[in-house]
Amino acid sequence: KQRNGHEPEFLQAVQEVAETVIPYIIQHDIYHGKNILLRMVEPERLISFRVSWVDDNGEIQVNRGYRVQMNSAIGPYKGGLRFHPTVNASILKFLAFEQVFKNSLTTLPMGGGKGGSDFDPKGKSDNEVMRFCHAFMTELFRHIGHNTDVPAGDIGVGAREIGFMFGMYKKLKNSFTGVLTGKGQSWGGSLIRPEATGYGAVYFAQNMLQRKGDSFEGKTVVISGSGNVAQYAAEKSLELGAKVVTLSDSAGYIYDKEGIDTEKLKFVMDLKNNRRGRIKEYLDTYPNAEYFEGERPWSVKCDIALPCATQNELDGDEAKQLIKNGCMCVAEGANMPSTAEAIHEFQNAKILFAPGKASNAGGVATSGLEMSQNALRMSWSRKEVDEKLKDIMEDIHDSCVEYGKNDDGSIDYVKGANIAGFVKVADAMLAQGII
Ligand code: NDP
Repeated sequence: KQRNGHEPEFLQAVQEVAETVIPYIIQHDIYHGKNILLRMVEPERLISFRVSWVDDNGEIQVNRGYRVQMNSAIGPYKGGLRFHPTVNASILKFLAFEQVFKNSLTTLPMGGGKGGSDFDPKGKSDNEVMRFCHAFMTELFRHIGHNTDVPAGDIGVGAREIGFMFGMYKKLKNSFTGVLTGKGQSWGGSLIRPEATGYGAVYFAQNMLQRKGDSFEGKTVVISGSGNVAQYAAEKSLELGAKVVTLSDSAGYIYDKEGIDTEKLKFVMDLKNNRRGRIKEYLDTYPNAEYFEGERPWSVKCDIALPCATQNELDGDEAKQLIKNGCMCVAEGANMPSTAEAIHEFQNAKILFAPGKASNAGGVATSGLEMSQNALRMSWSRKEVDEKLKDIMEDIHDSCVEYGKNDDGSIDYVKGANIAGFVKVADAMLAQGII
C-alpha cells in the first residue's frame, strides 16, 4: 500500500486477490515465508515512453505510451493495449495484474502484461490513427517479440489499430512473426478472435446456469457497452434464445423493450465499427427504443447482467437494484466492472457472479490459439476454434468450482478464479527461484 498508494485501481485489484489468496497461502506450507504475493504485485518491468505524432492540421501532438510486463513465470507476457484518455500506470498495472491470473486460468502458457496510451482515438481521422499507431510502435517494438511479449487489442484498439501497429513492427524488424494478436484473417489472424471475449463470457455464464439446471433460453439480458465485447456477448445471448434489451456507451444507454434482435445488432455493429457513431443514434432507426443520457443500464429489470464496457461501471447501489429486480446471474465481460461493494452485494445475495478474470478469459485464450496457429503456420476452421474456446471456458469454470467451493456447497467464483490462477504461477515462480 505504501509503495502504490497513489494507484487506486491497482490497489483495488490487488485487494480483491489478496482477500482470497492470503488465507490459501496460510493453509499451504509450500507458499509460506516466500513473499510470493509481494513478488507478484511488483511488475517485472514497467516501460513508459513519449509518442510524438503529427495531426491533420500539421500540429505536433505528444502522448504517453506504456507497457507493463507484469509476470513471465509461465510464458511470454501477453495482454492488450488500451488507447483511452484515462490510461495511466495505475489502470495498466491493475489490468496487467488481473491478466497474470486470467492467462494462468486459460491453461495456455502465457504470462501477463498490459499496455497502451492516453491517446483518444475518438474523433480522429484514419490517417491520424495510423500516424499515432506507427509512432507508438517505433518505440514499443524494441520491448516485444513473439517469444517475449505479444500484445493484443483492448478499449480503443481493434483490427484497424492492430493492422497499423503490425505494419510498422514488420517494417522495423524486417520479419513477419505473430508479435500481435487480433490480426486480420489474411495476415495471420485467427477466426473467432473478434467474437471470443463476448462469446466466452456467455459460455461461462451458460456453464454457471447449467450447473443450476438453467439456461439462457427465454431470459432477459442487460448488457453495457457497445464495443467489441458487448457486441458479441449480445450475439451469443441471442443465439442461445435470450432477449437483449440494452446496450450503452460512455454517453448513455439505450433500452429496447422489444429486444435488440439480430438485425438491430447488425445495425449497431455497422454504427460502431464502420461509422464510429454514438449509441443514441440507434433511436434514429428504431424510434420505439428509449435513450437515457448519462446513465448506466443497471436499473433495467433483467435475469442476466453482462457488464462489458469498463472498470468500476457497476457500484454497490446498482448491484442492490439488480438483485431487487430479480437478476440471478452476473458475468463480467469487461475487466473489473463491478466495484468491491457491488461484488459483496452479489455474494451476500448468493446470486451467480463471475469475475472478469474468469469470464472474459476467452479473448486472451483465443489469442493464445492465434499464437499457436502462427507458430504452426496453420489456420484452423471457425468450428475448430469455437470448439476449443468452449472447452477452455468450461475448463476455467470447472477450475473455479474446484477451488471456489464454500462450506455450504455454493461456489465463490471470485475465490475459485483467484486461487486457481495463483497456484500455477506461484508454483512456476518457486521452481525458478528468486529472480
Ligand atoms: P471497445 O473499445 O470495443 O468498447 C468499449 C465500450 O465501452 C464502448 O462502448 C465504450 O463507449 C464503453 N466505454 C469505454 N470507456 C467507458 C467509460 N469510461 N464509461 C462508460 N463506457 C465506457 O473495447 P472492448 O469491448 O474491447 O473492451 C471492453 C471491456 O472488455 C474492457 O474492460 C476491456 O478491458 C475488456 N476486455 C476486452 C477484451 C477484448 O478481447 N477486446 C478481452 C478481455 C477483456 P465509448 O465508445 O463511448 O467510449
